[in-house]
Amino acid sequence: MDKGNFGRKDRLIKEHRHDTYRMAGKWPEPTQCSRCGAVFTNGRWSWDKPAIRTNEAVCPACRRIADNYPAGIIELRGEFFKQRREEILNLARNIEEQEKGEHPMERIITIKNRGDHTVITTTGIHIARRIGEAVSRSYKGELSCQYNRSDKSIRVAWQR
Ligand SMILES: [Zn+2]
Repeated sequence: MDKGNFGRKDRLIKEHRHDTYRMAGKWPEPTQCSRCGAVFTNGRWSWDKPAIRTNEAVCPACRRIADNYPAGIIELRGEFFKQRREEILNLARNIEEQEKGEHPMERIITIKNRGDHTVITTTGIHIARRIGEAVSRSYKGELSCQYNRSDKSIRVAWQR
């Protein structure tokens, strides 16, 4: 198999995986996630308690967490960041609380220290952008967001 075939296979796997996270409308309503309790009703996921007996499934956010397959990657770095790391990460966690409260599919997967920088991975692209924007609004610095159309993912980088 030549390199081109590998590339194609990789892309097919990605597309397949991607589809498993975006089955909106394919769940009977209401469907409740057996892991986190989020409920799919009226075409969206929410934390509303279902009024009637529900079907069970694992929601896209819980799947991404189980597969460790993030939709958003945020990199934070710099001297200023090093000094204020805990404070800045608390801001990120607060944004997650707000975002997740309204949108159950927007969550932080992991926060990892990688020596000279910290990486936050997320289940959704909106939360990644919101965290980047909140950090930049509070602490200035340089922010960049790169949206990848083909697999609908986002890379956010902030440094100061
Ligand atoms: Zn879930």
